[in-house]
Amino acid sequence: MIDPLTIKSALSSLKTAADIAKTLLGVRDESQMRATVIDLQSAIISAQTDTLKLQAEQSELLGKIRGLETDIVNLKAQLSSNRQVPIALRCPMCSGEMKVKDETPDPHFDFAGVKIHHVECGCGHKSTRTFRAGQYEN
Ligand SMILES: [Zn+2]
Repeated sequence: MIDPLTIKSALSSLKTAADIAKTLLGVRDESQMRATVIDLQSAIISAQTDTLKLQAEQSELLGKIRGLETDIVNLKAQLSSNRQVPIALRCPMCSGEMKVKDETPDPHFDFAGVKIHHVECGCGHKSTRTFRAGQYEN
């Protein structure tokens, strides 16, 4: 994760360097100028160090994003190959999978094991299906 404190530190170092550079314009004494240049170099090195650290963190995050994108593609492919929705459970409105919400006995053929499945899709479409153990009928 990119550390906000590192960003703040880099910006602070750059501001310090700019302030020192402004001060440097007014310095006339050679020894004071050398000391100010050393301060300026120190501020620049600090900003460079923070910037390199941020670049490394950004690179690491981009690698993680690429890995996650690959994982998503692989999981989607795995899901589509593993999930074969029976036609009777495919939503006629959106082709999504309808889930059985309730099961009631068929009013005429309950004696033969026929049930009514009350199904619902994520899109909101509701319907019923005649169900006999082991298979669906429309
Ligand atoms: Zn649907």
